Formats: sequence, C-alpha cells, structure tokens
Amino acid sequence: MKEKDGIEQPESIGRESVAQIIQSRKNQPSAEELISGILKGDKTALSRAITLVESTNPKHLEKANQVIQACLPYANNSVRLGITGVPGVGKSTFIEAFGKFLTSNGKKVAVLAVDPSSTISHGSILGDKTRMEELVKDENAYIRPSASGETLGGVARKTRETIILCEACGFDSIVIETVGVGQSETAVHSMVDFFLLLKISGAGDELQGIKRGIMEMADAIVINKADGDNIKKANFAKVEFNRALHLFPAKSSGWQPKVVTASAITHDGISNVWEMISEYLNLTKENNYFNERRQDQNQHWLLETINEQLKTNFFNHPEIKSLLETNKKAVQNNEISPFAAASILLEKYFKP
Ligand code: GDP
Repeated sequence: MKEKDGIEQPESIGRESVAQIIQSRKNQPSAEELISGILKGDKTALSRAITLVESTNPKHLEKANQVIQACLPYANNSVRLGITGVPGVGKSTFIEAFGKFLTSNGKKVAVLAVDPSSTISHGSILGDKTRMEELVKDENAYIRPSASGETLGGVARKTRETIILCEACGFDSIVIETVGVGQSETAVHSMVDFFLLLKISGAGDELQGIKRGIMEMADAIVINKADGDNIKKANFAKVEFNRALHLFPAKSSGWQPKVVTASAITHDGISNVWEMISEYLNLTKENNYFNERRQDQNQHWLLETINEQLKTNFFNHPEIKSLLETNKKAVQNNEISPFAAASILLEKYFKP
C-alpha cells in the first residue's frame, strides 16, 4: 500500500481538469459528514477517515484530528487484543476463525495490523485480503491492512488513532496483528489490553529461539495447529510453555499468563481462548488494572507522539538536512566530534 499525498494543484488548469477537481472535491466528505457516518456505523466513512489519518498531507491530518477528537468520547468501549507470532504460525487463519466466533456471538470485530515492513514488501501481512476470506465478507467485521510508513513509530501512531475511529464506529473487539519479528510487538503491546502469542509445537525443545521479551509480554500463549497428528505434541508443548511462564515474575495485573491449545482449522479450542480473555477482563476490571493500564498507555502515546513528530520534523527540515550532510563529512574527517556536531544541528533547529 502506498500513502496518498493528496491532490497536487497544477499551475494552470484547463476546462476539463477544473471539472475534475470540482468533482473530486465534491467527493471529499467534510469532517462533519465523516463523524456522523462513523457514529452511525458506516464502514465507508470509517475507511475514508482512516485514509486521512494515514495521509502525509497536513490538510488531511488537520481534518483527521478533527474527526478523532469528535470520536474520542465514543471510543474506549472495547477490548483491544494484540496477536503476534512468526510468519506461518497461522495468525490470519486464527484471526479469521476467532473473528467469526466473535461475530457469531454478537460482537463487532475490527482487525488492524502493525507491520512497518509493509512499505518495502507492499503489505506482507494483511495486505492480501484473501487471507481472511470469510471475515472480510462478514457485515460485523472490518479489516484494514497495515498503514505504510517509514518508521515503526509512525505506523504505530496511525494504528492507535485508527483504534479510536473503529471503536466510535461501534467495533467492540479490536484485534491487532503483528509479525513476530523486530520491535513491532512492543508497540502493539503498548496499545492493547491483552497480548496473545501464537506458537506451534515443534519437535523437542519448544522454547528454543523464542525471545524472552515476547514471552514476558504475553498474557497467553496459544499453541495453534493442535489437530490431527499434532494434538499430542501440542499438549506436550503446552506443559513446557506453562512451566516456562511460571518462571517469570508475577504481573502487576494480578493475572497468571495461561497456555491453551487450539486449531484455527477445526476451530477446537477457539471458544476457550475467548473464555480465557473474558476471565482476564473480569479480573482486571475488578482490580482496576484495566483502566489504569489504558491511562498509562495514553500517557505513553502522548510522549511517543511528541518524540516521533520531533524526529520527523527535525530530519525533514531542509536546512537541517544539508547541515547534517556537512557535519557527517566533518565527523568522518575528524574535524569535529559527533557531540559538537549534534549541538550545532540542534541549536540550529531550536534557535534558528
Ligand atoms: P500467518 O503467516 O501466521 O498469518 O499464517 P497463515 O494463517 O497464513 O497460515 C500458514 C499455514 O498454516 C496455512 O497453510 C494454513 O492453512 C496453516 N494453518 C493455519 N492454522 C492451522 C491450524 O490450526 N491447523 C493446521 N493444520 N494448519 C493451519
């Protein structure tokens, strides 16, 4: 997916292009139209608003902020789930089965993705909508591929804002998929209530190659593909992961992470996953961890967004760009220390 940069204004315009421009402006809904559409549950309005959130055009962003602001009071009434796992573990098959389970129980499900690499690979996850064929046709589901962006921070911010829009549109179950590589898990973990790690049983040493940090973030591990000849191995893996999870310090949520087996193909164990999440929600709403965590996440995203904006503005500033090049060379030639060069650049930016 490519970001839309908005419509460039040509210097001189002929008759035909005037008509086209008027037409395209007519097709641009106002912020008010988008807001009322979203609040009525209109998925087209939702998609258009998300496109504004994802745009790099400042005018679009201004409109997006207006829409988000108006949607904010209607957001928050949801459960936000993060799902991670290495490619091939069955994430999209699982999300399809789990999503169908939720919609058949009266829920409205939005599936989003955080995949910074999609800029390069043109949507390595969720880009290909055919991966969730059933869910995509479901009236009570909404699937949106990962926003594109150069930085994880940028992609993550867009997803955070998209969550608000989806919730205001009536989606009460937000599923955020991410690939089990790189830093994207940490970003997703900081925007969800419950973080689920998908695994498959392998031969023998189940815990090998699994990043400690991801295990520590997980509120549950689902051993997927527990079907056919795999059931025995999956149960064995369950015992081993359970043992490993007990070695981590207790979570401040008061929740002891659990391991369950499931099959995204036969749907065995899918309802257990939801039961487990419900149990978690009951516990953390009762002990107020749920609200506290969302508050903490808001504070985190406030600072994170400032960080991200400062960095983007700084590195895209034309004068800074050329001064940076000059200083890079100077550092390379030992004419100046990296610290002194950084001071010059920062001073130029903040005290032009
Ligand atoms: P992703 O890359 O993590 O999104 O994985 P996919 O959902 O694309 O699944 C990868 C492969 O595993 C596909 O061929 C699926 O059909 C298969 N698969 C996914 N879930 C299951 C399952 O529960 N049981 C079995 N036997 N195969 C599965």
